[in-house]
Amino acid sequence: MSKGSQGNRIMNNKKPKIAALIVAAGSGTRFGNAATPKQYAPLLGRPVLRWSVDCLRSREDIAHICIVIQPEHKSFCQNALGGLDHIQIVDGGGTRQESVRRGLEALAAQAPDFVLIHDAARPCVTDTVVDYVIQALTAGEDSAIPALPVTDTLKKLDVKGEITTHPREGLYAVQTPQGFSFAKILAQHQAHAKENLTDDAALFERDGLPVTLVTGSRDNIKITYAEDIDAAAGILSHACGDIRTGKGYDVHRLVPPRDDARQLIIGGIVIPHDKVLDGHSDADVGLHAITDALLGTICDGDIGMHFSPKDMRWKGADSGMFLQHAAQLLAAQGGVLMHADLTVICEAPKIGPHRDAMRKRIADLLHLPLNRVSVKATTTEGLGFTGRGEGIAAEAVVTVRLPFTPPAAGKTHQQSDDAKIMRIAQ
Ligand code: MG
Repeated sequence: MSKGSQGNRIMNNKKPKIAALIVAAGSGTRFGNAATPKQYAPLLGRPVLRWSVDCLRSREDIAHICIVIQPEHKSFCQNALGGLDHIQIVDGGGTRQESVRRGLEALAAQAPDFVLIHDAARPCVTDTVVDYVIQALTAGEDSAIPALPVTDTLKKLDVKGEITTHPREGLYAVQTPQGFSFAKILAQHQAHAKENLTDDAALFERDGLPVTLVTGSRDNIKITYAEDIDAAAGILSHACGDIRTGKGYDVHRLVPPRDDARQLIIGGIVIPHDKVLDGHSDADVGLHAITDALLGTICDGDIGMHFSPKDMRWKGADSGMFLQHAAQLLAAQGGVLMHADLTVICEAPKIGPHRDAMRKRIADLLHLPLNRVSVKATTTEGLGFTGRGEGIAAEAVVTVRLPFTPPAAGKTHQQSDDAKIMRIAQ
């Protein structure tokens, strides 16, 4: 984005050693009175801190990771790391700047060429942003900080309650990770240890050292208020996709046919056999299992809730209709079925000769290509009700992709007091 001086001179075809310092020592006073500090708050099943750790530790170009924490948060941090090895944990200080200095001093033993200083409160950091920072450093800059031009109109509310508009031209909002020549940022922190600046690049600026801006990301948000967790969940879900797995299980009893019309049907295919499956509908144990698996992906109950066995409309019904109804419910939520895997469990009849026909029938019913439908069969080695031929069981697992829908504002997190005051001021 902007050009700095050709600062560092370490590039003589030598691969630079890069360390990451994650700053997790904040108290998070604007996050509300939550019992869990924001850097350890749950975010899509992982603590906020862990998202940054996982982004940085997955990179081959980052050799060492150090986290600075509040000493009293040690158990939070250990839980967040879940036994990950090779991550250094250092006690922070009373201010962010003191915490960073302590982390840098602890990193000195590693003698890195560069350090990326990253706030744990930015869990949505991406490889692309980290790439830009590292590319600038390896190209010869002594500092590289991700930034975006301010796009909102800026208003200032003074102590008298008067509001004035300020030009945004030339203004940038800066993010982390901020990358530096390790020796230079450590020297700046040690030389100005008594100050309390809000970011590390400011320690370069105060002494006229060049600061280089690289392109940040709109997604690289900072979690400040409790409701920011929902925004971060939305961003991360878009990146990961809302992939869900549903499981279904069904059993029907094998009985002698009561009339000639009743046939044994599994996976939508008629299978010649001396017994049939007993049930209100056509008792297709395979399609019932897949139907339940589909309903599981959208948390919409089970097949019995949609098609009651007491309802005479479903007597002898083709279970393909149940399966398609569940698929339509998934589609109504914008869901896409990716894969279905059915396992039929019985001693007899043999499923193998009918496997391909079942796959084709299920694929047709679900409008899936054949290579996304699997049918497997197993016995239970003569054990249990299936082994004795008393019944047939079926298990199904399906994978679907749903569009991510952020939780409704205010539903999962109370709006913070600061946010309410801001609304009044407007
Ligand atoms: Mg059933």
